[in-house]
Amino acid sequence: MCVIPLSRAPVAASYGDQQGMSGVLHRLRLRLHYLQDRLTVGQQMAFAMAMIGLVTLTAVALTSAGVSRRGLIAHLKIEMAEKATSLAERLDLDLSERYRDILQIAEMRPLSRIWQDSPDEVRDVIEQLKRSRPRYVWIGFAGADGLVLASTGRVLEGTSVLMRDWFRNGLNVPTVGDVEEAELLVHLLALPSANDATRFVDISLPVYSPENRILGTIGAHLSVKWAELLNDIAPREGATQVWLIGHDGRVLLGKSPNPKPFSDEVIASMMDQRSGAFVDTSEGHRVLTGFAVTGRKGDYPGLGWIVVTRQNAAVAFADATRLALTILGIGLLALPVTFLGAYWLARKIARPLVTLTRAAAQIGRDPDATNLPHQRGSLEVIQLSSSLRALLRRLGSVEEQIVRTAEQYQQDLEELRQLADTDPLTGLLNRRSFLTVADAALNGSRTSDGLGILMADIDHFKSVNDVYGHPAGDAVIRSVAASIGAALRQHDRVARFGGEEFVVLLLNVDRAGMMALAERMRSAIGSSRVLVEGREIAVTVSFGAALAQPGDRDVDEVIERADLALYEAKNSGRNCVAVADRKANPRVA
Ligand code: GH3
Ligand code: MG
Ligand code: MG
Repeated sequence: MCVIPLSRAPVAASYGDQQGMSGVLHRLRLRLHYLQDRLTVGQQMAFAMAMIGLVTLTAVALTSAGVSRRGLIAHLKIEMAEKATSLAERLDLDLSERYRDILQIAEMRPLSRIWQDSPDEVRDVIEQLKRSRPRYVWIGFAGADGLVLASTGRVLEGTSVLMRDWFRNGLNVPTVGDVEEAELLVHLLALPSANDATRFVDISLPVYSPENRILGTIGAHLSVKWAELLNDIAPREGATQVWLIGHDGRVLLGKSPNPKPFSDEVIASMMDQRSGAFVDTSEGHRVLTGFAVTGRKGDYPGLGWIVVTRQNAAVAFADATRLALTILGIGLLALPVTFLGAYWLARKIARPLVTLTRAAAQIGRDPDATNLPHQRGSLEVIQLSSSLRALLRRLGSVEEQIVRTAEQYQQDLEELRQLADTDPLTGLLNRRSFLTVADAALNGSRTSDGLGILMADIDHFKSVNDVYGHPAGDAVIRSVAASIGAALRQHDRVARFGGEEFVVLLLNVDRAGMMALAERMRSAIGSSRVLVEGREIAVTVSFGAALAQPGDRDVDEVIERADLALYEAKNSGRNCVAVADRKANPRVA
């Protein structure tokens, strides 16, 4: 594989002019392509699947964790609000029953005539009531002038309560009131001061004569025992804190670091909603807070107190948080499984492609690998496999065709070369090819090897043509060529030099040998007859011979001397052999 590292410098240089976001994006795209080119399809698919799995799993885990947590928190809020409501109802029920006790006495007909006249009887009745309900701390009847006429334990009898709220309010309308601090009573009854465990409440009602004349006020001072109310709340880890808050927003009962823990707006909102829950952060940490406003029950006017239930949100929502973390944990555990699955699946999908790629790489390297195996696995792989197989088959036949064409070309070339080197009439070498061969022989030989040239020319050939015609002349040329060729030894060469002239190259020859060979040829031609269309034609040939000598630059110089010798032979009467002994001095043998 050819790895071309992508250097940083060229990238920076070529895209240096691209400014800002588009430049960054372009460089990112380049990096991505750089990475892609170095990863297999399987690795890319595994990476992509793993990324999709990671994103999907994370999204699903986060969403479901969030949804579950929110659902559970909403449920916890409802629970907290219900807890406060249950306490408020319990408080309302308790106080409305006590209200009805006092109302019954105030409206009791037999008492209506004795309220002012028989304080002892009145006392008996209210003592009886106090005994039956330990919640009553004090019950008393004060006349319209504010003087207490009868009371439980005779406490405050003869004392004026004209200035007390319970008396003044109770004289007009039935009243249920939150006692600020019944100092007088606390002192007289030696009661513990109102504290976290107990709260005092006044119930006061107007008392009328049978003639509907106001006689005074009957008032009851009773305690709200917090512990009894709290029994309604199931004990639980990270215990729920409970506050009882007056309509002015002050904590009446319960341990609060702040006497007025909620703002007026929050109190107003609670009053408005009557019951609900929210997360309070006013103390610097999150507290799940439920609330319920105590209310009117029949003719019981109600106190308008707010029962507040509180629990540290971290504790309250611990289950919700644990559930969310569990869901996230399961998602986290599922991640490696997803990664492994993605890797395995990607490898499986990419395997046919890998096999195909490896097989394709072998083609051209391994002589036995001529085609690709059939691959399955996907539509694309099947198509690619069959397309590549078809392509290779076509390439194979094209290759065969090229080989055949090359062979044909070689053959044609050989034939052309032969044609170019050969004289068409005689089949002998032509002048050009002869000179090549002869020059090579001269350059490759030593003088001692002996290289001879014979020049041969048919005598009076013109008259052969004239007498017998041109075709007959051709036949004579062919016959002379054959006669010269037949007389040659294995390494000798003969060529037609043009017209009725021939040239012979003799290797490893000396003067005598050369002369003998030329003489043999002359005599053979002279004694033979050429038969053309039933007529015998007799021809003779003159020969000029020359041996290569030291100092000859090329074969032409030897040929020139042989030609001179031939000229000499012609001049000497033809049908003879002339030899050039030295330069420019041929001699007829
Ligand atoms: P000499 O003895 O001096 O050589 O006389 P010659 O007639 O042979 O010489 P010349 O050069 O006068 O004539 C050669 C003739 O050969 C002339 C030409 O028409 C004839 N000739 C040349 N080539 C061919 C050929 O291929 N075929 C035939 N038939 N005749 C040819
Ligand atoms: Mg001639
Ligand atoms: Mg001639």
